Amino acid sequence: MPLRLYDTYSKKEKEFIPRKKGEVTMYTCGPTVYGRPHIGNYSSFLMADLLRRWLEVSGYTVKHVKNITDVGHLVADRDGGEDKIEKQARHVARERRGGGGDLTKEEVMSIAREYEAQYLEDEKALNMKEPFARPRATETIPEMIAIIEVLLKEGHAYETEDGVYFSVESFPAYGKLSGNTIENVASGSRIEVDEKKKHPADFALWKKTVGSNADHILRWTSPWGEGFPGWHIECSAMSRKFLGEQIDLHTGGEDNIFPHHECEIAQSECSGKKPFVRLWLHKRRIDLGSEKMSKSLGNVLTIPDILAMGFSPLDLRYYLLSVHYRTQLKFTKKGLEDAHKARRRVMEWMEEVGGEDREEKKRRPAFAPGSQELRTGRGGDEWQQKFAYAMYSDLNTPGALGVVFEAMAASRKGKELGSYRAFLSLVRETFGCFEPESAGSIPGTVMELLEQRKAARAKKDFAASDRLRDEIRTLGYEVRDEGKEQTVKKL
Ligand SMILES: [Zn+2]
Repeated sequence: MPLRLYDTYSKKEKEFIPRKKGEVTMYTCGPTVYGRPHIGNYSSFLMADLLRRWLEVSGYTVKHVKNITDVGHLVADRDGGEDKIEKQARHVARERRGGGGDLTKEEVMSIAREYEAQYLEDEKALNMKEPFARPRATETIPEMIAIIEVLLKEGHAYETEDGVYFSVESFPAYGKLSGNTIENVASGSRIEVDEKKKHPADFALWKKTVGSNADHILRWTSPWGEGFPGWHIECSAMSRKFLGEQIDLHTGGEDNIFPHHECEIAQSECSGKKPFVRLWLHKRRIDLGSEKMSKSLGNVLTIPDILAMGFSPLDLRYYLLSVHYRTQLKFTKKGLEDAHKARRRVMEWMEEVGGEDREEKKRRPAFAPGSQELRTGRGGDEWQQKFAYAMYSDLNTPGALGVVFEAMAASRKGKELGSYRAFLSLVRETFGCFEPESAGSIPGTVMELLEQRKAARAKKDFAASDRLRDEIRTLGYEVRDEGKEQTVKKL
């Protein structure tokens, strides 16, 4: 059975065929590290993680690249305004120092690294798999400059007093991904006072540190003088560096379709010889109340918020994946509670059925590598087939979870429980949210009390150790002692 996915570019569901048999190259636009990511960001990264897991379960090797944007993403998402990273670094530095003062490049970078570390922590708590490569924009500047030079040479770009711009009129397919025309884009754009663009829809490949950008802290030398890259060129350079001129899959949030991904296509195709991407996948954004969620609006929910509400990040993972990626999820606390309960039920059932034994492991994958053919007869039982059918139908996660609950009900009617093991391994690996809670998902206060209790036990202060156990219990966690180690479980 072939995997079918909805391609944003052709606006239809397509059979997914990778360039190379058995291997998939995939690029995901990573976070701009100027604040803690929120559930809107997580949901798009989780879709990419789910897709990757499903491809791996199906027998493919997946080369997944996910970048870190640490320069060049301007406040207006277009060519105007401050750099998001620098703006936030100035704010943080002011608060820490209790006053103004000039920032150095090192200070800005070190604050960006703090946000990057937070992001990586969140990724871990959400059980996302490590990418094949995680390039940073600031470490890919020579590759960006090389692409810009080709674009200039081929007549797709031009230099002005304040930067180098891509000429959208030189690329007739500009607008195809987002369904825009150059005229539409132009009427929605404005030329900043000191920009000398030829066409309002042209976008920056490189900004010189002159005029309103004279104070820009993050800067590099280039053939066009000192400056910094535009946001879009970063992903064209990072994807090409690690995955080549053409990639199988490109994912992102729907907010990235325009201008970001539209510009990526223009740059990559005008400087390369092949169509840039074979299939584009976009996650619909989620709504938190009436307002669209964004860091700049301040109405965001982060992993610490989810923990403070008493939920595990894996409850959130379940919730965000339980809705189809092309359906707009209205995020509610009730929805999160329901997800928590549903996930518990599945996990309890998994415990009843028991863990996988070696025989089960040998039987997987239930699919012939790379051929996407379900290997029936051996391992691929009725439930696996139904589950796979849902996943192959444009990642129909609500359908796939429906199969899990259907199987659960059937198993209670007396069939040998052990016969569900291979199916449950498939479910566990695909969804990644039925793991026992990891340390990362336990609230900091509980972790602190656990540390204190460990110290008390080492000193054989059993009164203190018992008191701390009770205290941890009131926070909803149960501690058990296994030898010298303590294990903790959510009640
Ligand atoms: Zn990108």
